[in-house]
Amino acid sequence: MNVCNNYIAGEWLAGAAVTVNRNPSNVADVVGEYAQADAAQTRTAVAAAKAAFPAWATGSIQERSNILDRAGSEVLARKDELGRLLSREEGKTLPEGIGEAMRAGQIFKFFAGEVLRAAGEKLPSVRPGVDVEVTREPIGVVGLITPWNFPIAIPAWKIAPALAHGNTVVFKPADLVPGSAWALAEILVKAGLPAGVFNLVMGRGSVVGEVLVNHPDVAAISFTGSVGTGRAIAAKAIGRMAKLQLEMGGKNPLVVLDDADLAVAVNAATQGAYYSTGQRCTASSRLIVTAGIHDRFVAALTAKLKSLKVDDALAAGTDIGPVVDQSQLDQDLAYVEVGKAEGATLAVGGERLQRANDGFYLAPALFTGTTNAMRIAREEIFGPVACVIEAKDYDEALALANDTEFGLCSGIVTTSLKHASHYKRHAQAGMVMVNLPTAGVDYHVPFGGRKGSSYGSREQGRYAAEFFTTVKTTYTAP
Ligand code: NDP
Repeated sequence: MNVCNNYIAGEWLAGAAVTVNRNPSNVADVVGEYAQADAAQTRTAVAAAKAAFPAWATGSIQERSNILDRAGSEVLARKDELGRLLSREEGKTLPEGIGEAMRAGQIFKFFAGEVLRAAGEKLPSVRPGVDVEVTREPIGVVGLITPWNFPIAIPAWKIAPALAHGNTVVFKPADLVPGSAWALAEILVKAGLPAGVFNLVMGRGSVVGEVLVNHPDVAAISFTGSVGTGRAIAAKAIGRMAKLQLEMGGKNPLVVLDDADLAVAVNAATQGAYYSTGQRCTASSRLIVTAGIHDRFVAALTAKLKSLKVDDALAAGTDIGPVVDQSQLDQDLAYVEVGKAEGATLAVGGERLQRANDGFYLAPALFTGTTNAMRIAREEIFGPVACVIEAKDYDEALALANDTEFGLCSGIVTTSLKHASHYKRHAQAGMVMVNLPTAGVDYHVPFGGRKGSSYGSREQGRYAAEFFTTVKTTYTAP
């Protein structure tokens, strides 16, 4: 089997070691072998990005736009193949994998357009005769560190705006999912990026990630991942005054009111809490349900969960694929035990499943009789496990929804305009969903949260410019 190498300074380079990428639906299936960079190679990538920066930052914006557009076209043209690779290495179902690949392609297309829309402002000065211009400039070398749960979309929504706004990139994907990252890198290289503008450095966070976070020539770090890693990165990056953007965990509420359409509520809960095996930062892991619909909702959701097919991510008809690996499965199973020990009722699921191939299959779990003080309602589990918290009315439901250290996404299912409007205004989250699952967002609008979920400016859409540029104010006298 050929080893897929890192891309550093315009060359595909072997690493200091090799990692074997395995399929979580079938651990006997080896997806590929991937180079692991060491600290010295990571520093070489940073030096290459630094050297490439001046020409890229000031070069032809038409060329920049064309390259991103070509990359987007190729991702879209190869969405089935890329989606298959993604599902094979991460475990989300094939339709979800293809959908994610499409999203990555659309992101590159969007930012190909953004290159040409880099608007500034011209204002009158308070001093007669003086002109004031406000413009945006790239920041320099950016280090991009991504998690395993969206192996192509999250890299795309960091790489595309970074390049579009004139920065050069050192990209470190999660060690569990090098395949999608490598395929994306190959597409970017083919699209015509000059040497050094984009560097792929696969390897451990404790090695490659550490270098990026601490390197004085990396002007900005954009990270998506767990709260613990995010906080550790923040302490180091802020210490050296690097620009920082963190997207971390969630414990997202979905409120279901008495007046909700039951089918809409069950669909939103199923999709939001369990699809993509619940491994989404936007997953609705807290289902806050008012008393009048509680029993009907629990019965309908339990029946729905029993009907879902948990199986190989690539098999036709699979609703829920495996958990990503053994350690995540262990964490999910441990939380199921925590929930039982805390006194919640396990209404359905929560046990490991055996399938034709040896994989990390878990029956989607629903806890009822949960209070918002329990650990299963407070800590991010990051698996197909959700809990129902009963509320007496809308006011209590809203208070429970906001009673969390996180603030990524917050949802409500209701037919009441009054309650929907109030919730949109008072939910303490970066994103609010009305009659929709908390997971599943558009690619052209801001993504991000509040409180412990996020730090720094928003990702995606036009708002990505906040992070990937720095503002200059120029005064001109005649
Ligand atoms: P981790 O925080 O473990 O890892 C995220 C990335 O950081 C990986 O690339 C990892 O490398 C790297 N990393 C680890 N240690 C360091 C370090 N010391 N310095 C620099 N980089 C480091 O998260 P997971 O990949 O396990 O992803 C799951 C988590 O991500 C969940 O908790 C989830 O909530 C969160 N998440 C949040 C999202 C959001 O937008 N809010 C979106 C998606 C996920 P390595 O390859 O070694 O693992």
